[in-house]
Amino acid sequence: MLKLEGVGFNYHTPEGEIQAIQEVSLDIKDGEFLSIIGPSGCGKSTLLSLIGGMLRPSAGRVTIDDQEITEPDPRIAWMPQRDQLFPWRTILGNVLIGIEVKRQPTLEDRRKAVALLEKYGLGDFIDRYPNQLSGGMRQRAALIRTLAVEPQILLLDEPFSALDYQTRLTVADEVRMIIQREQKTSILVTHDIGEGISMSDRVVVLSKRPAVIKNCHDVVLSTDSVSPMARRDAPEFGHYFNRIWKELDVQ
Ligand code: ADP
Ligand code: MG
Repeated sequence: MLKLEGVGFNYHTPEGEIQAIQEVSLDIKDGEFLSIIGPSGCGKSTLLSLIGGMLRPSAGRVTIDDQEITEPDPRIAWMPQRDQLFPWRTILGNVLIGIEVKRQPTLEDRRKAVALLEKYGLGDFIDRYPNQLSGGMRQRAALIRTLAVEPQILLLDEPFSALDYQTRLTVADEVRMIIQREQKTSILVTHDIGEGISMSDRVVVLSKRPAVIKNCHDVVLSTDSVSPMARRDAPEFGHYFNRIWKELDVQ
């Protein structure tokens, strides 16, 4: 279990201290899909960097199974905002990069990477280059690269913001389906209310900077589907949307 206990964070700048996170406490269950929504500049990316061990809290602590996170941890992986595939490497070459930065990939690593690409419809593109793939396929390849290092927890910071609206809906659907099948704990940062509700088991709404939790919503919809597109059609969707909209509006 991932736990944030009284986490606070201040940036030190030449002009003085900027308090980005005031106090955030959260328990994130294994396999849970959590979204964090808040106004621009409220501290969402800072909070993810604290969870990912890129920053150390000024107050409180972040733990996985009671072990404090003090530096980037192999159990936690980031899905990049843009796909960040290297154009001169094949899709398989790109997927193996995460492993290569740690050690020489083994035949078994290669086999697993190929199996993941095949499982998620990129089997025919293993030896192609990124510019031969559509935007959605590239995003999928980037997610597979993140999964290839076998993390427990995925951090997604506005991962679809570079995509146009229609592509964004399909890619979000694919990404959510893959994460469900791979059973990863995931934390998605977004400023898109619909994206947050449609993808998540729970939505956390943050205040303006310095961030505190304004509210937590367990998203219970009358559909068994995990597909964000199907979930958007659930009758309760609008109810959550309006409540979160108001919480963000009255800040
Ligand atoms: P969000 O992701 O919610 O848009 P961020 O976490 O990126 O917000 O930033 C929160 C606040 O911290 C912002 O007001 C931003 O200006 C400030 N901030 C972010 N990064 C730095 C930094 N490296 N140095 C100083 N202030 C920063
Ligand atoms: Mg941000």
